[in-house]
Amino acid sequence: MPVPISQSWTVASYVLKQKIRGRKRYPLVLMLEPLFRCNLACAGCGKIQYPAHILKTDLTPEECFRAVEECGAPIVSIPGGEPLMHPQIAEIVAGLVARRKYIYLCTNALLLKEKIGQFTPSKYLTFSVHVDGQREHHDFSVCREGGYEIAIEGIKEALRRGFRVTTNTTLFDGADPNSVRAFFDEMMELGIEGMMLSPGYSYDKAPDQQHFLGRARTRRLFRAILSNRKPTWRFNMSPLFLEFLMGKRTYACTPWGMPTYNIFGWQKPCYLLQDGYAESFAELMAETEWHNYGTESGNPKCANCMVHSGYEASAVDHTFNSLRGFLATARATLFSRYRDRYGKALLNEPVRPVHAYNPLIQISNSAAAEGSQ
Ligand code: SF4
Repeated sequence: MPVPISQSWTVASYVLKQKIRGRKRYPLVLMLEPLFRCNLACAGCGKIQYPAHILKTDLTPEECFRAVEECGAPIVSIPGGEPLMHPQIAEIVAGLVARRKYIYLCTNALLLKEKIGQFTPSKYLTFSVHVDGQREHHDFSVCREGGYEIAIEGIKEALRRGFRVTTNTTLFDGADPNSVRAFFDEMMELGIEGMMLSPGYSYDKAPDQQHFLGRARTRRLFRAILSNRKPTWRFNMSPLFLEFLMGKRTYACTPWGMPTYNIFGWQKPCYLLQDGYAESFAELMAETEWHNYGTESGNPKCANCMVHSGYEASAVDHTFNSLRGFLATARATLFSRYRDRYGKALLNEPVRPVHAYNPLIQISNSAAAEGSQ
């Protein structure tokens, strides 16, 4: 079981309560971005292209706690930027643990060994380490030679100290399915709790615009990767969301399921788009024109999106919406091999990994120099 029973129970009882109350839209995971600056400058990132004065701004712990209480979601994911560069990140995490929130602290692990002593192992705290694939692919993806080695060292240290650890992996066009599968083996051998996956979103501000995946290619890639699974692989995600990525299910986007709060306020409508900000969570829910978003809306910004922050909450809602959804989840959990001849054949197709014909570009990031204070 990749997710501890106490966490599954907290999520299940929370969702059932929302259903009993008749709430059509409810948050499941708060995406809390306490800062935007980072010590990497990945080519596919849409978060670090802000001017210096924005990159230097942090949410205070009090602002974080207020957002978490306003929102009420049982899970808080802390992306960024690089959260370990926030000078009060340990205080923020301790405050959220005291509020019994399940926290996924997303980190590239460059500072993990240095800062890990500031944290205490808890069932509420998971380090979700960003690793995009095997060594060569990860280093290419984060534009940093040696990034993979540092991430692995960070994972080992966190595990040694008794922390919950997962990986989070974003896949772009040019990913080699065989290499991704070998990467899953490597991660499971380290002893992590589970893996998280998402296709990359085509941020219009990202430096690399060539390698984002369209929907059909996303399904093909994930079918190749996730069919004929090895029993040793564990995923820290909704199994129905993985089926969605493989093209076995369709879901409508539920962006309110993973609302985003950052230094600008409550971001409309989701973690990826910035169509304005609300001052309160209640205002975000009441005043966002939700019908303008999701693939079915015809909004071109949503056309190719299949990312977890739009669709994983839809999959979780499906689990609790009907007996059929619940049974589908049970089946996907118990019978997770997905034997598939076509998926196997896809593994034999030639792939030119993106790093084979593109040089690794180390993008300089002025924030990195200032960041690790
Ligand atoms: S489809 Fe993607 S980009 Fe559009 S609202 Fe949903 S999560 Fe955001």
